[in-house]
Amino acid sequence: MDVAIIGGGVAGLYCAYMCSTVGLTCDIFEALPYVGGQCMAFYPDKPIYGVPGLHKILAKDFITKLSEQCLTDNVNLHLNNLVSITKINSLFKITTIDNQKFDANFIIIASGIGVMKPSIPTSIKGAVELANSSDFVQCYCLNPELYTDKKVVVAGGGNSAIDYAMCISKVAKSVTLLHKRDNFSCDKNKLNELNKINNGNIKFKMNRQILELQQGLVITNEEVINADRIVFCYGLLANTTHTQNTISFDIEKERNLIKVDQSSMKTSENRCYAVGDVVSYSGKTRGILSCCYEAQVAVNAIAKEFKK
Ligand SMILES: Cc1cc2nc3c(=O)[nH]c(=O)nc-3n(C[C@H](O)[C@H](O)[C@H](O)COP(=O)(O)OP(=O)(O)OC[C@H]3O[C@@H](n4cnc5c(N)ncnc54)[C@H](O)[C@@H]3O)c2cc1C
Repeated sequence: MDVAIIGGGVAGLYCAYMCSTVGLTCDIFEALPYVGGQCMAFYPDKPIYGVPGLHKILAKDFITKLSEQCLTDNVNLHLNNLVSITKINSLFKITTIDNQKFDANFIIIASGIGVMKPSIPTSIKGAVELANSSDFVQCYCLNPELYTDKKVVVAGGGNSAIDYAMCISKVAKSVTLLHKRDNFSCDKNKLNELNKINNGNIKFKMNRQILELQQGLVITNEEVINADRIVFCYGLLANTTHTQNTISFDIEKERNLIKVDQSSMKTSENRCYAVGDVVSYSGKTRGILSCCYEAQVAVNAIAKEFKK
């Protein structure tokens, strides 16, 4: 194959699309049984923001459209395939979890925040046990069936907590937004949006530390709250070792993110490129738009190198 793309999130999918446009063959290797990365794993039923021309489209619908655009006949998709990569002489050797082996001339690392497993705070008594044994504890899950006519606590104070509170409030009996500080850390316009849509269904409780969970009860430092569900939006537990596990050759990193040259998305290793949430460069922002832009830059640079 010309190009092996590691990761089938937005960045990896868009790389495949770009490969088709410049006549390069490619394979996508994705550890999960589906494409879409964070969009599908964490927020399929949340609208995505900031994608031109797609105002408030649900993440799962966006991924369906993106897949239609990107997964053309030139693209081989390998799902359920966690891979590791070595480089022998000038070829990249890709080994899948079931020991299949592939060679590639170029690779694009689009492994995002790694293979995602939602994190449940272990410091809260009963949280992990209840997450494993019931629907009471959720983490970055927006399936409306879980929340319809339910009393839901959303824990967190960043953008995703506000997004989740707004989405869930459309179907829930009530939503309580619980935050450990006295101020939200979300964008100001996010809070304005929430205040605009809130008809009293979303209540705020600030300065609350969650100490313990029991089925149907959220026990905080101030009070005990009756709830049918609690959804944690405490940020993502970045899998800080995933790039080490994926790549066995030396590559320059910055805080466990892959350093790239912004003008080409090239890494410190010859013919190895990286795009999306896994990369670091000055001024990097995380989001769908950046993923697509970086994919375009990387594949155009590969196409140029290919011709040499
Ligand atoms: C709650 C939340 C809300 C968000 N809302 C928005 C929004 O409204 N607008 C916006 O623009 N952005 C939003 N974002 C950010 C956006 O989702 C991300 O920037 C984007 O999805 C990153 O895509 P990616 O392809 O780089 O990585 P990821 O989505 O992390 O995908 C990487 C993929 O690589 C796979 N992988 C990793 N390692 C391997 C391996 N060794 N072998 C095989 N596969 C591997 C993983 O399984 C994963 O599927 C949001 C993020 C979150 C968490």
